[in-house]
Amino acid sequence: MSQSTPLHALPHALPHAVSRLRAERLARSSKPFLARGGAKGDRCAGCRLVVSHCLCAARPTVATRAGVCLIMADIEPLKPSNTGWLIADVVTDTFAFGWARTEVDPALLALLADPQWQPFVVFPGEFVDPARVVTDVQPEPGKRPLFVLLDATWPEARKMFRKSPYLDAFPVLSLQPEQISRYKLRRSRRDDHFCTSEVAGLCMDLAGEPLAAQTLEAYLDVFTHHYLRAKSQLPAQWDGEAHQRLQKLATP
Ligand SMILES: [Zn+2]
Repeated sequence: MSQSTPLHALPHALPHAVSRLRAERLARSSKPFLARGGAKGDRCAGCRLVVSHCLCAARPTVATRAGVCLIMADIEPLKPSNTGWLIADVVTDTFAFGWARTEVDPALLALLADPQWQPFVVFPGEFVDPARVVTDVQPEPGKRPLFVLLDATWPEARKMFRKSPYLDAFPVLSLQPEQISRYKLRRSRRDDHFCTSEVAGLCMDLAGEPLAAQTLEAYLDVFTHHYLRAKSQLPAQWDGEAHQRLQKLATP
C-alpha cells in the first residue's frame, strides 16, 4: 500500500494478539511450519492468505465494551484456517495466550484478575458443575464482559478446561440450544460444530452487541470465501453477497 492508505487502516498496522502469538510460536518451532498451499505463493502477514487473495482491505473493526480472551491450543495460531485471528481483527480488546498443561502465562492470570473485566468461561454446560453454569450475561456494575474462549479442537478444549484450575473461579457461560438452533436456522447450518469466531459472535449477541455479532458473522463468510477461492485458484469476488453484507455493516 502507498501513501493513499486511509486513516482508519492505521490501527491495523500494529500486529494484533493472535498475530503476535503466531510469531512467537513460529519462532519457537524447531522445523518450519509449512502451511498447505504455502509453496504456491507468498502469504500476506496481515491476513495469512496468499497475496492474490489478501483480505486486509475488507477488515472491519467494531467498538465493543466486551472483550475476548483466547486461550489457544499449541498449534492453533499456526493454522491458516484459525478463526480466532478473525476475532482479533474485529474486536480491539482481544487477548490471546498459548495453553500449556504445566504452566500458565502470568499475563493471562493478570488479565483474569483485572477488576475492569468480568470473565466468563465459554463452555458447554453439560460438562460442568451446574452451580457454575450461567446462560446469560448479567453485567456487574463497572465491569466489562470478558469472554474466555478455548480455541482448540473439541478433545483438546475438554482437556484444557479440566487442566486449567485458574479458570475454576469463573462462571461458565453455556450457549443455549434455542440460541444455537436459531443461529443454525438463520445460517442453514446442519452440524453442531461451531468455529471460534461463531462462538464469539453468539457471545457478543448475549452481551447486547449485535453489530459486533453480525460483523463477526459476515467477516467469517468473507474470509471463508477468500480462503476457498484461493484453494481452488479462482479469483475472489469482491462484489459477492458476503462482501456486500459486511460493507453495509461497516457503513451505517
Ligand atoms: Zn492480507
